[in-house]
Amino acid sequence: MKIAVIGAGVVGLVQALELAPDHDVTVFADLFAADTNSVKATAMWHLFLVKLHRETLAEKPVLDGDVHLEWAFETLETLCAWAESPGSGVRMVPGTEIFRSAEPEKMPAWTKRAAGSPTHFRMLTPDEVASLNALERAAISPPPPGESEILYGYRLTTPVADMAIHLPWLLEQARLLGARFIERRFADLSDAANGLQRLGFDVIINCTGVAAAAFADDRDMCAFRGHYFSAPSGGLELTDYLGDDENPDGMTYVVPRGSSVVVGGTAVPADRPVEGFTWERALVRAQRLYPALAWFKPADDEVHHIVCDRPVRLDGVRLETEISSKPPLPLVVHNYGHGGSGWSMCVGTARAVRRLLTAVASPSRL
Ligand SMILES: Cc1cc2nc3c(=O)[nH]c(=O)nc-3n(C[C@H](O)[C@H](O)[C@H](O)COP(=O)(O)OP(=O)(O)OC[C@H]3O[C@@H](n4cnc5c(N)ncnc54)[C@H](O)[C@@H]3O)c2cc1C
Repeated sequence: MKIAVIGAGVVGLVQALELAPDHDVTVFADLFAADTNSVKATAMWHLFLVKLHRETLAEKPVLDGDVHLEWAFETLETLCAWAESPGSGVRMVPGTEIFRSAEPEKMPAWTKRAAGSPTHFRMLTPDEVASLNALERAAISPPPPGESEILYGYRLTTPVADMAIHLPWLLEQARLLGARFIERRFADLSDAANGLQRLGFDVIINCTGVAAAAFADDRDMCAFRGHYFSAPSGGLELTDYLGDDENPDGMTYVVPRGSSVVVGGTAVPADRPVEGFTWERALVRAQRLYPALAWFKPADDEVHHIVCDRPVRLDGVRLETEISSKPPLPLVVHNYGHGGSGWSMCVGTARAVRRLLTAVASPSRL
C-alpha cells in the first residue's frame, strides 16, 4: 500500500517505523522529530491523562481490560529493548512514586501488571514510607505542619528517553527501512485527502497529536498544559526519578537526564491559568524528597522553563478508520489523542493501526 503518515512527532515516527518494512510509506509534516511537541515530553513510560471525565475534566483511571493498558504494555517491551540499543536516547531509570490521598487498593490498574514486567515494580514498605515522611519533615524548607503525609508508594525501573536524541534516532530508523519524509502543512483533513489522492496514496494515517482538534475537527480533544524546568545537572550524579503528583503544594517530579535534570510540573487544561509555578517553588518541593538536590543552584540563565500541551482526548486515543472516507479518496485512519502517554503507548497504537489496515485491505477497497 502507498501510505501517507501525517505527523512526525513520536506517534507518527513510530507509525512509519512499524509500517515501512511492508509498505511504501511517506511521512508528511510541517515539523519533524526534535522540532515537534514530542521533544518536550518528560518521556517516561507511564499511563497518565489518557482519558477524562467529560463533566469535570478530571483524569479517568485506565481500568483492567482497557485497550490502552494493552498498548502500554506492548510498548513497554519495545522501549526496554530500545534502552539496550546504543544511540536510541532511551535508558532504564529507577525511581519512586509516592501518594498522599488514595488507598493502595485504588492503585492504577497498570501497577498490577507492572509487577510481572521488566520494571521490577514493588510497593514501598511501611518503613520506607516512614523514612520518606521523616526526610520531608527534616528538609531545609519543610512543608507547613498539617500538610498531607505520604501514605504509600512504589518503586519501579522504567524506560526514560531524552527526546532530543530519541526522536531523530526514530526518524533515522524509519528512513533506513525506506520511509520518506516531506515537509508539508495541510489546512485540514479534507485538504490532505484531496492532495494525497492526486499523488496516488491509498491510506492516510492521521498522527497530528494536539493539532488534531482543528485538523480533524475533533471536539473531544482537550489539551492539558504542562510546565516544567530543565537545568544542567552540573556534575550531580542523579540516579533516580521521583514522582509526587499529589503534593499539596503542587505536582512535583524530578527526572534525571544525564547532563540535565527535569523538575516539574503542572497538568491543567490549557485554557486555565497556572499560577505560582516558579523554579524556586518547584525546586524547594523537589529538594524535600531528593536530598541530592539540596545544594543545587544553577545560574538563572541555565534554567529553562518548558511549556507544552498534552494531546488529551476525553475517551482516550482515537484509533479508527474515518467512516466518511470513500474511494477514490484515500482511506483515513486516525491515531492521535495519546494524552500524557504518547511515548508510552506509541508502539501499541502503531501495531493496532497495522492490524486495522490488514483487516480492511481488500482488492475492492485498496
Ligand atoms: C510536560 C509533558 C510531559 C510529558 N511526559 C510524558 C511522559 O513522561 N511519557 C509519555 O509517554 N508522554 C508524555 N507526554 C505526552 C507526549 O508528549 C505526547 O503524548 C506525545 O508527544 C504526542 O505525540 P504526537 O506525535 O501525537 O504529537 P506531536 O508531537 O504534537 O506531533 C504532531 C505532528 O503532526 C504534525 N502536524 C500537525 N498538524 C499538521 C498539519 N496540519 N499539517 C502537517 N503536519 C501537521 C506536526 O508538525 C507534528 O509533526 C508529556 C507531555 C507533556 C506536555
